[in-house]
Amino acid sequence: MKTKAQKFGKLLAETFFPQDFTCEICGIEIFGGRLCPDCAETVEFNDGETCPVCGRKTAKSEICIECKSNLPKFKKAVSALNYKDGAVQLIYKFKNGGAYLSEYFAQLLAPKINALPRADGIVYVPMTEKAQLRRGYNQAKLLANKISEKTGVPVLDKAVIKIKETPEQKELNRAEREKNLSECFKSDKKAVKGKVLLIVDDVLTTGATMNALSNSLKKAGATEIFVATVASVEYSPLNGKPKTTQDVPAQI
Ligand SMILES: [Zn+2]
Ligand SMILES: [Zn+2]
Repeated sequence: MKTKAQKFGKLLAETFFPQDFTCEICGIEIFGGRLCPDCAETVEFNDGETCPVCGRKTAKSEICIECKSNLPKFKKAVSALNYKDGAVQLIYKFKNGGAYLSEYFAQLLAPKINALPRADGIVYVPMTEKAQLRRGYNQAKLLANKISEKTGVPVLDKAVIKIKETPEQKELNRAEREKNLSECFKSDKKAVKGKVLLIVDDVLTTGATMNALSNSLKKAGATEIFVATVASVEYSPLNGKPKTTQDVPAQI
């Protein structure tokens, strides 16, 4: 049994320093760190073989078929985690009230970002105003701000806006999907012209959104684009294409 004072202490700790006292995934009490040992085992780091372009986990360290057949508009993407098991739960929490996880994720991503050429500005995947009102915050923006603190690269808040919601894509062919997505973003020439940019987001699934955003930024004059996401979906050549968003919780 805990004393009243202990209970109060725990409550206080959870209020002000939630990450230091309870496991981010299962919620049990821990002493330091972010995860209990059992949950830590469920979080897989994307530190093995990856595609040198989209950065997703692959069987061999060579360009994946998806990137080979349709070279992305960004130069290179990196991610800290593989989007499965514990990482899915962490990112779900990040998007549903756990805004403070931006600090942890920025820490995980920093070494990967430091290995990229230095960017002139950071861009985050924008949300429509309506979507942001619904969630209360844009998790990609929070992540961008934390990465900016760690790297000294400024966040370009005005670089790009989302002018419409991402439409249903299922019934469309590739060209139609790309056109559809590219119409969602509007980039500001003044903010991005002549710049090397780093786009940050929580998850890279097929890379289609990043590609559309990169395309928009390049059309507005950005010279080169790099991408950093907390996690990415493993590339699966077995079915000839990457796992689709149907395999993972819905993204906004
Ligand atoms: Zn745990
Ligand atoms: Zn690839």
